Amino acid sequence: MRNAPTILHLDMDAFYASVEQASKPSLRGKAVIVGGLGPRGVVATASYEARVFGVHSAMPMAQARRLAPNAAYLVPRFALYRSVSEQVMALLRELSPLVEPLSLDEAFVDLEAGGAAWDEESARLTGIKLRADIRAVTGLTGSVGLAASKMLAKIASEEAKPDGLVLIEPGTERGLLGPMPVRTLPGIGPATGDHLRRAGITTVDELAEAGEDELVRLLGKAHGHGLYAMALARDDRPVVAEREAKSVSVEDTYDVDIHDRIRVGLEVQRLADRCVRRLREAGLSGRTIVLKVRRYDFSTLTRSETLRGPTDDPAVIREAAARLLESVDTTGGVRLLGVGVSGLADYTQEDLFAQAAGEQGALAEAPEETAPEAVERPEPAERQWRAGYDVRHAEYGHGWVQGSGLGRVTVRFETPQSPPGRVRTFLVDDPALEPAEPLPLVLDGVDTEV
Ligand SMILES: [Mg+2]
Repeated sequence: MRNAPTILHLDMDAFYASVEQASKPSLRGKAVIVGGLGPRGVVATASYEARVFGVHSAMPMAQARRLAPNAAYLVPRFALYRSVSEQVMALLRELSPLVEPLSLDEAFVDLEAGGAAWDEESARLTGIKLRADIRAVTGLTGSVGLAASKMLAKIASEEAKPDGLVLIEPGTERGLLGPMPVRTLPGIGPATGDHLRRAGITTVDELAEAGEDELVRLLGKAHGHGLYAMALARDDRPVVAEREAKSVSVEDTYDVDIHDRIRVGLEVQRLADRCVRRLREAGLSGRTIVLKVRRYDFSTLTRSETLRGPTDDPAVIREAAARLLESVDTTGGVRLLGVGVSGLADYTQEDLFAQAAGEQGALAEAPEETAPEAVERPEPAERQWRAGYDVRHAEYGHGWVQGSGLGRVTVRFETPQSPPGRVRTFLVDDPALEPAEPLPLVLDGVDTEV
């Protein structure tokens, strides 16, 4: 491990909700909840004002509505979040060639590799300047953690939230980590956390005291070794750019070619489950599902589908693999099958966002690389006015859909730079009303040059 706190972890604060508040002046300072609004929807992000009511990401939307009935409920606008994310990532890439994005709003940066920082003071100054630059360019706040390892940098940014910076001085890591709950460590989810609690282990100190042999006995070899090292604050994982290129995959070669289509399908499901186990063991999730098929004549095909966010959900990966198999002709027989997941990320809120979006059924901005068959079903004949989406009215100008139903749509007319606006209601087929692109959150040269 290096001896200067030159690994930076950036995490934007309540990202989707903050983008919505920046975009809609009437929602600033209010409870805003972004996620799937359908019957099985989950919260993707809640603004800090909504968290006061106990709403948090991953919570079923129905529960959120009971806790915060007066909050604004919006569907995610990924195209907008992606464009803001690109602005943030560009600022990070100015600091170092080694930027490892974990999701749209989170990334590690190796400041030393970029020459941006080499000791505590330069690291702190870089973090302070980065936060100011992010605010100037996007109008949003992000929290920064600085430490000598990825694990500690991420823990530091969590401590810094919201709108702060925390630097963990090298040498103080173990003392700081010791009293924290085991769930603080990467790779410890609810299930592992419960398992450890039943063994009487609740804090990181207790994890370290249990010893390596005991952890291996409790959790298996790979996980046990890894966690013991983390408990001692030992983390040498490098910041890796181009994470997208990596993948987790499993494959099987068959002694005898498989001809039976049903059997091929079952093998693919089995491989998908094995692939999910690998992913989970590594504490990862991924966005792109890849199916590999080698046929009787050794011709090899790969098919892939990119989801809207990383997942490690076995049902989602199984379904994607099954869909991909449908597009492959296996009539002559199959000698090898493989299932892989790439576009890897550590566990993040993004795996909810795939689900939250899926609940909506209609997603306007599926990523470009998505295979045609993965794109949403066709738009219904009548126009849909989705909560939170931008519109333009011939007379009243730019606004956003506050709600719709019973043949009517309610629009609030405001822009990121205007004061909070007025609400008006129209018939859903009003010809003067049309969908519009989101407006920039910050106008160039206005907010930055003061
Ligand atoms: Mg965040």
